[in-house]
Amino acid sequence: MKALTQQLKQKSRELGFVLCGVAPAAAPGRWQQFSRWLDAGYAGQMHYLAGRRDAYRHPRFVLDGCRTIMMLALPYATETESAERSAAEGVGRVARYAWGEIDYHDVIHDRLASLCRWVESRHPAASVRGVVDTAPLLEREFAEMAGLGWIGKNTLLLNRTWGSYFFLAALLTDLALDTDPPQEKGYCGTCTACLDACPTDAFPQPFVLDATRCISYLTIEHRDHIDDALKPHLGNWVFGCDICQEVCPWNRKARHSDEPQFAPRADLRLPDLLGTLSLTEQQFRQRFRQTPLWRSKRRGILRNAILVVGNQRFAGADEALDNLLLDDEPLIRAAAAWAIGRIASNGWRERLSRALAAEADPAVRAAIENAITGAPPTLPDAEPR
Ligand code: SF4
Ligand code: SF4
Repeated sequence: MKALTQQLKQKSRELGFVLCGVAPAAAPGRWQQFSRWLDAGYAGQMHYLAGRRDAYRHPRFVLDGCRTIMMLALPYATETESAERSAAEGVGRVARYAWGEIDYHDVIHDRLASLCRWVESRHPAASVRGVVDTAPLLEREFAEMAGLGWIGKNTLLLNRTWGSYFFLAALLTDLALDTDPPQEKGYCGTCTACLDACPTDAFPQPFVLDATRCISYLTIEHRDHIDDALKPHLGNWVFGCDICQEVCPWNRKARHSDEPQFAPRADLRLPDLLGTLSLTEQQFRQRFRQTPLWRSKRRGILRNAILVVGNQRFAGADEALDNLLLDDEPLIRAAAAWAIGRIASNGWRERLSRALAAEADPAVRAAIENAITGAPPTLPDAEPR
């Protein structure tokens, strides 16, 4: 299988995967750790993870008869360090992986499908399946086993050339491809930059992420109201968060992607908050249907953008916030009440009192009452990042 493995790697590189290595389809050693992480409640509302807990025990639950896994990395950072670390008033931030026009799942699935066809054309009886972050596979561990890099203290896979701004994908097969030596050594050393920089203290210890405190989780996966104590720490983030990657020394000199499909779209890289707050359901669909932001739906993105407006104390958003107190989505009305209380422009109590008188939803009523009695906020302020 040596020749086939080499040819497959060559084919992968031609498709833009800058790192490729092969791991044996063994039971992952970190499954117990993963299981304890679930038991600790760190997955929050990502119940699909616990629902498939046992499937993560072995790659054969992803592909029957799986013998080897080719792990692949596709970088997505197309530019050097973002000049907009602290977004200007009225502008939010989006995690770098979501700056492109197209959802990365679609980009990667097409390439994996091409690799699958290539293998099947040479071994018609082989089973082969490509997956990208939706299958029950501990991808970072298999990437480490395939020699692509090491898992850093921020829990992401790091590579000395490519840093951590890349997507991982996996090609599982029942063929016995030639395996690569695993990455034995990590290069975090005594560095703790990611742990120190996290605005929400989402790392209870190195190498462990409490997703329920992570801005990426809160702005994308969490479908509910966000805890008042965490809201100020969201800073300017409308979708995701890159802070623990931005501060990582391995990303400072990391190479960049030249993938045109990941080239930044202006309104995704630095979304205009007022424009975002005025989006109807239909407009949201038109603008974001093909992008990663679609995952949060309009109610999630507007909730987040409203909280950013509140964190910026952006008085220019007063009128938009008043309109959003009448939105159909309780999540949006509650966030608007919080932001109005935080900005505390002239007449803010009266505006909130009027909304309270007309509000029937108990959770939104509680949010408005909190905003009236709790604002100006007594919570510790966080510096927007
Ligand atoms: S993505 Fe942001 S909030 Fe989440 S762990 Fe990293 S720095 Fe913390
Ligand atoms: S910031 Fe430092 S500790 Fe964190 S992942 Fe990067 S090298 Fe490791």
